[in-house]
Amino acid sequence: MTSPCIFCEIIAGRQPTELLYQDDLVTAFNDRFPKAPVHILVIPNKHLDSINSLSDEYQLTISRLILTARQLAYDKGLSEDGYRLVINTGPNAGQSVHHLHVHLLGGKAMPLMGG
Ligand code: 5GP
Repeated sequence: MTSPCIFCEIIAGRQPTELLYQDDLVTAFNDRFPKAPVHILVIPNKHLDSINSLSDEYQLTISRLILTARQLAYDKGLSEDGYRLVINTGPNAGQSVHHLHVHLLGGKAMPLMGG
C-alpha cells in the first residue's frame, strides 16, 4: 500500500498543522523544517504531483499560488528586502514531496542561484 500524500493529509485535517491561509484553491502553512527565518509552503488543494501535471485548466490555480505567496511575503514584511519563490520539480531539483508546492523563503540574504 502506498503511503498517503502528506500535504493531502494536511488539507484534510488529518495532519495537525497551523494554516496561514486557505481558500477554495490553495493552502499555505509553515515548512516543518525551515531553511530560512520565513519558510512557507503554498500548495494547491487539489493533488497535483508537480508542475509537470499542470494543464490549461489549472491557470487560475497556478496564478493563485503565486499571488498568495506574494501576499504572504508582503504580510511577513519581506517586500523591501526581497524573498525567493521556488518550485522544485523532479529528482534533479530535489523534489521530495510529490504534491506541487511553492516555497516562499525570506528573512535572510540567500546565495545567488548557481553560486
Ligand atoms: P521539496 O523538497 O519537495 O521541494 O519540499 C518539500 C518540503 O516539505 C520540505 O522543505 C520539507 O521540509 C517540507 N515538509 C515535509 N514534510 C512536511 C510536513 O509534514 N509538514 C510540513 N509543514 N512540511 C513538510
